[in-house]
Amino acid sequence: LYVDQALGEEQTVPLTREQAHYLFGVMRLEEGAVLSLINGADGEWDAQVVKAGKKGGVLLCSAQTNPQQNPPDLWFLFAPIRKERTAFIVEKAVEMGAARICPVQTDFTQSANRIRQDKLQAHAVEAAEQCGGTFVPPVDDLVKLDRILKDWPPERQLMFCDEVLIGDPVALPDMHGPWAILIGPEGGFSPAERDRLRALAFAHPVSLGPRILRADTAAVAALTVWQQALGD
Ligand code: SAM
Repeated sequence: LYVDQALGEEQTVPLTREQAHYLFGVMRLEEGAVLSLINGADGEWDAQVVKAGKKGGVLLCSAQTNPQQNPPDLWFLFAPIRKERTAFIVEKAVEMGAARICPVQTDFTQSANRIRQDKLQAHAVEAAEQCGGTFVPPVDDLVKLDRILKDWPPERQLMFCDEVLIGDPVALPDMHGPWAILIGPEGGFSPAERDRLRALAFAHPVSLGPRILRADTAAVAALTVWQQALGD
């Protein structure tokens, strides 16, 4: 369970009404039960139910079961697509170890593809809980691609997944250190966008293979290329 507070020896954790409903109503846990907690910063902790109620409850931390593991420094930039598929992309970015998730508005991003940052952040929390991660990447609000590129930290390399580069995935330089992945929308990148991206010293145009992938497939493919390149 993800809790939004510090975790530590003998730390008590008051539960919200929703958390109490989930633990005691849905999961039917009772006093004395032990569960795992994460908060995204203090690693994973065992905690015991010391008070169980309909409207709330209290857990008591006992021992840290996993140290905090922060992911490698990857920013995952993607143009939002249809709602449920955007949620899928966020979940995969969490499972595959992104450190930051940045929805970006590109020229061909469909205006209908609005995002709810709070809902996407909740998907990220759920994905971290599900995959046993101790880190929950922040999901930014939607920002224009050019805006995020304007103040780009020069040491960060960008894997620019360019759908026109059909062919063998090109070899990438060493991917340890600060990196980012960029995936376009259903309509791909505009020619003007492509020219601007290719002119960036830190951008590495990359093919993800000989076929045009759906944006959510491309997200998983690009994250896999990155993870394999890390070899960790
Ligand atoms: N409308 C575009 C077209 O038909 O050419 C396809 C865009 S694709 C659905 C969405 C995004 O996935 C692309 O902008 C790109 O970032 C990524 N992508 C899909 N296939 C790719 C490939 N073979 N190589 C590199 N990137 C790819």
